[in-house]
Amino acid sequence: MNLRVGITRDDRFLEHKTGHFHPEHPKRLSEIYRMIDYYADRLTIISPKPASVEQVELVHTPAHVNRILKTAEQRITSLAPDTPVSAKSYLAAWLAVGGCLQGIDLLMENTCDAFFALVRPPGHHATADRAGGFCIFNNLAIAARYAAARYGIERILIIDWDVHHGNGLNDIFHEDGGIYYYSTHDLMLYPYSGPMEDTGRGAGAGCTMNIPLVRDMTDDDMVYLYARTLLPVIAGYKPQLIMVAAGFDAHADDPVGHHRFSELLYGRITRLLMDAREAAGTPAPPLFFTLEGGYDPRSLTRSVHAVLSALTGDEIAALVPETASDDVVAIVDAVLTIHRPYGVIHEVIPGVIQ
Ligand SMILES: [Zn+2]
Repeated sequence: MNLRVGITRDDRFLEHKTGHFHPEHPKRLSEIYRMIDYYADRLTIISPKPASVEQVELVHTPAHVNRILKTAEQRITSLAPDTPVSAKSYLAAWLAVGGCLQGIDLLMENTCDAFFALVRPPGHHATADRAGGFCIFNNLAIAARYAAARYGIERILIIDWDVHHGNGLNDIFHEDGGIYYYSTHDLMLYPYSGPMEDTGRGAGAGCTMNIPLVRDMTDDDMVYLYARTLLPVIAGYKPQLIMVAAGFDAHADDPVGHHRFSELLYGRITRLLMDAREAAGTPAPPLFFTLEGGYDPRSLTRSVHAVLSALTGDEIAALVPETASDDVVAIVDAVLTIHRPYGVIHEVIPGVIQ
């Protein structure tokens, strides 16, 4: 199986300067772009246009948008203690959103089956009115709202595999039954939110699945966890679009995360998603990825490479294990127990969507 895959590439993202010692630095993306050169003939590569104010305000408040505009052409300043910006950061932020929206267009026009927005700054910590956690605009949230508004998509699944909880995504869609938020993360890391019991509210009750990870999990543990929890979400919720907040900071070499996964894990989970997508019905939901964290440029590049390899047809199998460590089996049981009463998930035999 190989999909038609698009990506965003633009050197203007490298103009978002955060200072010498900041983990979210331009080299993250420049190394990925160098790797992309080897794939160029397999990918549709687009250069983004900036989003409009109206599009950014699908999620963000006018006050937040104005705050970002005021940083234009200024010397280095800060939007939050951990989120510095430079003269061209506003433009990178605007292009990051624009690139995501163009990716949605390519998917919805059926030009591509999968799209990876290789952008910075990242987005999943940005809330409607606040930057933070290296994020300025919530790129993926805006893209989800855009897909719903422009193309009438009624059920969108967001998968957040960054090691940090996507508090912005969680908050923005907390009461939205049209967008399911699924996150695996480490509760002991920033922003310290996302307990299992946080399942959404109101019309969104049962449409948020937060799964705190334990440390020392293996790749096999993680694939088991995804097969046992995410496949039931896909089978029950039946998303028309699957979006991934693709952060790679749970990699063993990452200086910020404290986990021990290899880059191959991301290829295996991508493959799991591709298989689930095929089984999810016709037309199969398109796959959208946007870059979130990942702070060791080499392992980040290898991880993005693993995702693109899976998408473009290299033989990467999900290899779902039959069991996992006791801690992980207990997490899966606890999550399913919390979610069964909502009636949204549909439990399936891993690898077989009924
Ligand atoms: Zn992260």
